[in-house]
Amino acid sequence: MSITQRLSSAFMRKCEGIATERRSLLGLQAFESLPADVLAKELRATVFTPEKIPKADQEQVAVLLDSDAWSAAVICQDPLWIIHNPRHALTRRESNLMHEFAHVLLKHQIVRFDLKTGLPQRRQSDEDEATYLGGCLQIPRRGLLWAVQRQMTLAEIAVHFGASTDMVRFRSNVTGVEITKQ
Ligand SMILES: [Zn+2]
Repeated sequence: MSITQRLSSAFMRKCEGIATERRSLLGLQAFESLPADVLAKELRATVFTPEKIPKADQEQVAVLLDSDAWSAAVICQDPLWIIHNPRHALTRRESNLMHEFAHVLLKHQIVRFDLKTGLPQRRQSDEDEATYLGGCLQIPRRGLLWAVQRQMTLAEIAVHFGASTDMVRFRSNVTGVEITKQ
C-alpha cells in the first residue's frame, strides 16, 4: 500500500494548508522556496550535528557519526533541538529537517527511545504523516502547479525548491501534478 493509500484525503488537504500557512506567516508565496533553516528559525528550533549536542554522551555521538541509518531527530522538545545526519547530501538535509518539523507541527508523540543511538522512535502512522507533510512543506502542490505552468523541468523544480529530484518525483506522484517538460 502506498503512502497516499495509507493517509486520508482530508489529512493530505490539511498538509497542503499547513504548508501554505507556514509560508504566508513568513511572507512567502506558495511557489517560493522555504529553506529548512528559515522554518527552523520561525519554529525557534536549534539544529545541530551530533558532535555539537551540548553535554552529549560521547559513545552515542560516535555511533551517530558513523551511521547512515538515521536522518534527523528531535532530541529535545522544549527548547526545540533537532539533530541531523551530516553524512547526508544537502537536499537530503532539507527533507530530513522538514520531516522533523512536520512531527513538531503535527504534535506527534515520541513512543520510545532507541537504546543504542538514543534517538526517539515514533508510530509508523506518524512517520507516514510526517513524510507527507515534510514533502508539502518543501514543495506545496500550488508551488508545483506554478512550476509546471512555467514549463520548468524536473531538475529546475528541484533547484528552485532546494529539493532532491526524488522529492520532486514523489510530490508529482502524490499530487497528480504531471511534469510535462523533460
Ligand atoms: Zn519521523
